[in-house]
Amino acid sequence: MTVLITGGAGFIGSHLCRAFLRRGDSVICVDNFITGSKDNIKDFFNNPGFRLVEHDISNPLCINETVNWVLHFASIASPKYYLEYPIKTLKSGLLGTHNCLGIARAKKAKFLLASTSEIYGDPLVHPQKEEYWGNVNTIGPRSCYDESKRAAEALTYAYYRQHNLGVRVIRIFNTYGPNMQLDDGRVVSNFIVQALKGKNLTVYGKGHQTRSFCYIDDLVAGIIKVMKVDYNLPLNLGNPGEFKIIELAKAVLKMTGSKSNIKYEPLPEDDPTKRKPDISKAKKILKWQPEVSLEEGLIKTIKYFHDKLKE
Ligand code: NAD
Ligand code: UDP
Repeated sequence: MTVLITGGAGFIGSHLCRAFLRRGDSVICVDNFITGSKDNIKDFFNNPGFRLVEHDISNPLCINETVNWVLHFASIASPKYYLEYPIKTLKSGLLGTHNCLGIARAKKAKFLLASTSEIYGDPLVHPQKEEYWGNVNTIGPRSCYDESKRAAEALTYAYYRQHNLGVRVIRIFNTYGPNMQLDDGRVVSNFIVQALKGKNLTVYGKGHQTRSFCYIDDLVAGIIKVMKVDYNLPLNLGNPGEFKIIELAKAVLKMTGSKSNIKYEPLPEDDPTKRKPDISKAKKILKWQPEVSLEEGLIKTIKYFHDKLKE
């Protein structure tokens, strides 16, 4: 089959490109490289099943080939960058999703939206179940991301209801691993790169806020399963292991053997205080659950950044 992956040169997108090419599928990777990199996809350039379309998906796109699946992963995803580019972030969630849904409809393809745990905002329900409607500040600094993904979900279900389009919505919880950019700004890559460079680890606030970290291979396995089942409602995908940010900082220091110190910096506005997925639906429907512990995932990710820093 042919899979069109927007954001295919990004962290998650590049792992998806690899997974589909390995299965013998064809991949059309659409990316404008705002946060992705050619390095992530250079292994595929000689693969006849791979085609790169350098394009901003907020603008309409014409594709001539048959397409069986449209996977919409293009979005600025790190708070560091969506705070810098709020309008572009909103446009990829709103216009980009609309364009992708249009392609899926025209091609009679199925559509999968990469949504996020951020649609739950600073959650008042813990852990977060798919039925929870969330607690988002509509005008806060993170709203460009949160609300664009909420609107992207609404658009997806409008196409489902009005055009009977086959849709999947996954709400991804903090995922990490190789192919994140050195300057991505998200917590796992920041801490590892800081530790390896001997710089202070920047813990925002007191570091008591929690996150649940999923290793990329587990997420990719979950996404492939989502595409195989006939289930149209949103599914949480993430690792339910919950850690305080300060615990993550200490684990990274220990595992890298770094002599770096911890430096406390102000907590960003509206930073969610806790986050943990309830994955009982994904377990039941997909027969899936994460297999990689935080320690195992960090070992692989530390090795990746260690090698990357030597290049
Ligand atoms: P990433 O920044 O590594 O990848 C995003 C990719 O999209 C980049 O290659 C970027 O250049 C591309 N892109 C952004 N805007 C674009 C546009 N308008 N047109 C074309 N390409 C564009 O981030 P990621 O972590 O791989 O995230 C991928 C998707 O998964 C995003 O939609 C994100 O919201 C979602 N997600 C990720 C996480 C996570 O923890 N990694 C959690 C929740 C949701
Ligand atoms: N964080 C931190 N130091 C950093 C980067 C992030 O303490 O250098 C914190 C951030 O405040 C948040 C958590 O780590 O509470 C996860 O941040 P990230 O940007 O990875 O993603 P988020 O889950 O907030 O979207």
